[in-house]
Formats: sequence, structure tokens, C-alpha cells
Amino acid sequence: MDQTTRQLIDRLDADRSLPLEGYEYLVSHYSPMAAKRLEQLAVVRRKAVYGNSVFIRGLIEVSSFCRNDCYYCGLRRSNEACERYRLSDDEIFDRVGAGYAIGFRTFVLQGGEDMRFSRDRVASIVSSIKERHPDCAVTLSLGERDRDTYAAWRDAGADRYLLRHEAADLAYYETLHPSNMSGETRLACLQDLRDVGYATGAGFMVGAPGQTSAHVAADLKFIEEFKPEMCGLGPFIPHHSTRYAHDAAGTVEQTCFLLSIVRLILPTVLLPATTALGSIDPRGRERGILAGANVVMPNLSPSDVREKYAIYDNKAHTGVESAEGLEDLNSRMGEIGYRIVVDRGDPATEDPINDAGETKGAIVAGDPVAAV
Ligand code: SAH
Repeated sequence: MDQTTRQLIDRLDADRSLPLEGYEYLVSHYSPMAAKRLEQLAVVRRKAVYGNSVFIRGLIEVSSFCRNDCYYCGLRRSNEACERYRLSDDEIFDRVGAGYAIGFRTFVLQGGEDMRFSRDRVASIVSSIKERHPDCAVTLSLGERDRDTYAAWRDAGADRYLLRHEAADLAYYETLHPSNMSGETRLACLQDLRDVGYATGAGFMVGAPGQTSAHVAADLKFIEEFKPEMCGLGPFIPHHSTRYAHDAAGTVEQTCFLLSIVRLILPTVLLPATTALGSIDPRGRERGILAGANVVMPNLSPSDVREKYAIYDNKAHTGVESAEGLEDLNSRMGEIGYRIVVDRGDPATEDPINDAGETKGAIVAGDPVAAV
């Protein structure tokens, strides 16, 4: 690791911020040594806020229909080979009930932009879930909608919303999307989500086609400034029926490196070790947690639709990637010194190191999962 990289890492840890060129330098000077240093510092921050707790979210993929045509995504509208499905309300409630029984206290309803999931229908699904399980959080990830719709879902009880910004460099955003989509709209949606009161999640793919260090630096600056409560960072993985079928996937190393950087920028952020990370490496989940992540989102969709929600090739949905594999996931987290908790896993509002100038000790919420 060169002297400049070392100084930038120390500065990032102290200030939670770097100038744009600092981020670009750091990202373009990846080395195993730099990654190790970032990881050590990120884990200190993560443990000060969240101890060794790992939050779990039950991911329910409600629809593979999508009105959009994002060039990288297997669910894109123009992919005629994609098998389309949408869950009924009862199927969703059934999966929520099954997830509750095994210890999930946050449910994420994710899908393509399927207008059959109308404003009223989603509001009614959310309020039914909250009525049945008032101790649970509901996260939505249903793409770009208007502010009134976001507000209606929030009023119905939804707590959080995941909408990756995908690319903060607007010209680069355009290369990944058709001309009817824009980075400005995406960012405006994120602002609407925040304004109507959601804990808001941004994020981007690591190693996406044509992505440069300067693009990633812009993403990190955006994350620093917007301060999302959640941040989804996973490797890009090609899908065979997209124009990027033969592009290289992002790497575990680069993803973990960026997870550590994001943890240093936002010590309290909810940071998942994503399914994509688990899909390119059998120990991807663990490696993400060890780099500073604190959330995992096992698949709680009905098993017959999991294959169909194919945003990229070889998406993991069994074993520790599945809700049924929770016991296994728990023991694998145990092996690396972490533990899954039965808890809504809300974002911490306090960062003991920076807020007090010294570590106050871990704020550890939730009961460990004893017998899942
Ligand atoms: N329609 C919703 C949910 C999209 S799927 C929305 O627009 O937010 C969730 C995320 O999967 C996307 O935000 C994108 O960053 C990621 N994704 C899509 N295609 C991918 C691919 N080929 N490789 C890795 N991640 C991908």
C-alpha cells in the first residue's frame, strides 16, 4: 500500500469524508493490504454501533413483471425469455407468516415495476401485514413511483424503501438505461422517499459494465452527502439475455473493499452482504459481514418462483440464501464471530465513536436466534 492510500484511509476513518479525487484515488489503488486496513477499521465502527449482531430480512420477490428496460437486468421488459409471475396477496401473507414463525421481523417486498401492484393494492397489503405483525418492519423495493404513491404506502405502515441510485454520474447512468429513464428521476424519487418519511436505501452495482473509478467515486460522494439509512452494494453479474451477457462480473474483493469504505463513511448504515455477493462466492455472505456489512436478506419467496426472479444468472436461492437455511446461516455467522438476532433491525441513530468521541460500548439490540 502506498503512502497516499494509507493517508486517505486514515483521513476517511477520521472524517467520514474524502474529496472526490480522494475517493477516486482510493478506488483505483486497490490492494489486498489496503482492503485489509479498511476492513479492520470498518469492523471497529460496525461493532461500536451494532456489536456482533447480524440483522435478517425476509425477501419476498412479489413480481417478475417490469415496465422498465434496464439494460443489465434479466427482468427487463424486452426480455421475452423471462418467465413472468406475480404473487397473490394471500401468497404474500403466507410467506410473511412462515417467515415470522422462524424469526424474521422485517419483510422486504421487492419486484419489477409491475403496475398491477397498484397504489391501493400495495397499501392494503402493507396494512394487513402490519395488522397481523405489529412488531415487524415492512420494507418496499418496487421501483420508481410518484410521491403520492410513496406517501400512501408510508401511511399504510411501510417503514423503509430500497431504491438503488444505480449510478450517481448521470452520463454513466444513461449508458445503462434506455432514454426514457434518467438518473435525475431516480435521485428525485430518493428525495421523495426521504421527504415522506421512509428510512431510505440507495446503492449501486460493483463492476457494472463500463464503470470506472471516477464513477464509483461519484457514487461514494453521493452516499456521503445523501446519507441513506441503508446501502445496497453487490457485484454486477451478467444475465445471458442482456447486451452484457459476455461482460465480466464484479469481484468479491472489489465489493468487500467498497463495503468497508461505505461503513467508514456512514458508521450507522444498514449494509447488506447481498445475494449477488453470495452468488459469486460460496462464502460471499461471510466475507461481506467480515468487511463491515451487518444485514443479510435470505430468500423467502415461494420456492417455485425463485428461479423466475432472475435478475442475473446463477442467482443463489437455496441453502444459506434461503429462509429455510436460517439455522445453517446462523451457524456460519457463529463461526465468524457474529450472531443473527430476532429484531426489526432499525437503523441506529447513534454512532458511539463519533458522537461521544470515544467508544461507549456496543448497542446490541435483539435476542439471538436460539432455535430457528
Ligand atoms: N425494480 C426494483 C428492484 C430492482 S432489483 C427497483 O428498480 O429498485 C434490485 C437491484 O438488483 C437493482 O437495483 C440492481 O442494482 C440489481 N441488479 C439488477 N440487475 C443486476 C445484475 N445483472 N447484476 C447484479 N445486480 C443487478
